[in-house]
Amino acid sequence: MTDDERRAAELLAAARNVVVFTGAGVSAESGVPTFRGAGGLWKQFRPEDLATPHAFARDPRLVWEWYDWRRGLVAKCKPNAAHHAIAAAQRASGQTDKRTVTLVTQNVDDLHERAGSQDIVKLHGSLFLDQCAQCAQGAQSAQVAHRCGNCGGWLRPGVVWFGEALPEGQIEAAVEAARECQVCFVIGTSGAVYSAAGIVHEAQAAGAKVIVVDPGDTAYDSIADIRLRGSAVTIVPGILRDG
Ligand code: NAD
Ligand code: ZN
Repeated sequence: MTDDERRAAELLAAARNVVVFTGAGVSAESGVPTFRGAGGLWKQFRPEDLATPHAFARDPRLVWEWYDWRRGLVAKCKPNAAHHAIAAAQRASGQTDKRTVTLVTQNVDDLHERAGSQDIVKLHGSLFLDQCAQCAQGAQSAQVAHRCGNCGGWLRPGVVWFGEALPEGQIEAAVEAARECQVCFVIGTSGAVYSAAGIVHEAQAAGAKVIVVDPGDTAYDSIADIRLRGSAVTIVPGILRDG
């Protein structure tokens, strides 16, 4: 373990409240591609051209083809050691009641859930829930035909698209946890997608230390108290002990 990793482990173990903030990078070693960086492309399209309300209005079948492909891909992936370490830290904190570990994720995969994490603040929704694009019917579990059981209209993926507001209650829950934590542990997110990135600034403004694990450059590099360059699987399990 490097000196920085040891310092990070100590900060995490000493904190009464921890916010773990994850992005696509935490799932990269499970085989889920990130959008930015190598291997994130689908056919000739960019996510920015498909993950928008406009793209869906223009061609729902094309957008669904992309989401069906992503669902199939995620379904074949398994949670990795970083997802498991986070879930274990949450379980341990629940047992002692002496500390809280709040997981806030931008991911739309279900790998944190499958690793056993509970009470996840999901800022960008889920790949595995649909919503009716026509009527006010709420979330429905993934439908193959993509038609609403209530009105027969198009369902859409229950994810937040570019330019859309975050799900009600989720950003509030994240900000509240951020303001009360002593350590904000950021794993595998470039910080390019705003409002979500504001969580880290909220935490730091309220006095929290910021620890960042990512093999590449991130928007948090200049504000991180501890910057660990490396992959989630190689670094997270070592420093996030059950405390
Ligand atoms: P991003 O694609 O902008 O950034 C990913 C970050 O992960 C990069 O900084 C990269 O260097 C880092 N990374 C790559 N491999 C890593 C590893 N092995 N360990 C740790 N870090 C690693 O991702 P983002 O910041 O989460 O924003 C992308 C948006 O797209 C999110 O809002 C999310 O909803 C969506 N998205 C989700 C998934 C998913 O659910 N798994 C995948 C792709 C995109
Ligand atoms: Zn409907």
